[in-house]
Amino acid sequence: MAVIRPLLVGFATTFKHMFRKPITVNYPAEKVPVFPKYRGKQVLMRDENGLEKCVACGLCAVACPADAIYLEAAENDGTVMAGPRYAKVYQIHKMRCIFCGYCEEACPVSAIFMGKDYELAVYSKDNFIWDKQDLLVPLSIVPLTPVTADPQHPGVFPG
Ligand code: SF4
Ligand code: SF4
Repeated sequence: MAVIRPLLVGFATTFKHMFRKPITVNYPAEKVPVFPKYRGKQVLMRDENGLEKCVACGLCAVACPADAIYLEAAENDGTVMAGPRYAKVYQIHKMRCIFCGYCEEACPVSAIFMGKDYELAVYSKDNFIWDKQDLLVPLSIVPLTPVTADPQHPGVFPG
C-alpha cells in the first residue's frame, strides 16, 4: 500500500492536468509578460527635447556593488545634454551586472532605469558590454511617454 498510494496520487495529478488548457508559449514569436518589478537591461533616458539626461556624476558607478559600470565624463556643448557635463562613454558589463537596481536608485536625475528586456544572450564574448548605443533610448521614440504599471519604475518602454 505504501508503494501504491504515491502512484495513485501521481496518476491523479496527471489525469487532472489532461483537461486543463495548455500554457505552452510560442516563444520567441510570443513573449511572456514579466513581473512589474522585474529588473532587466538598463535604459538610459532622454529628456523631452531628446537630450541625454545623464550628467556623468558617476554615482551609479559608485553604488554598483559589482563594479559593472564604467563612464567617462566630458564637457557638454549643449547638443548632447542640457547640463554642463555628459557621459562621453557609458558602459555596463553585462557579465558583472547582477541586476540589483542600485544604479537606478543612486541616480539623482532619473537618467537610468532598469528596463524589462530579458533577451540578453550573446554569441560572442565581444558582446559582453552594453555601451551608450545599446542603452540609450532611441531618438525615434522622443517625446518619451513612459508606459508602466509601476510608477516607481517609469523607464519601461514597449518593445
Ligand atoms: S543593476 Fe546593480 S550590478 Fe547592475 S549595473 Fe546597476 S548597480 Fe551595477
Ligand atoms: S546615470 Fe545617473 S547616476 Fe549614473 S552617471 Fe548618469 S546621472 Fe550620474
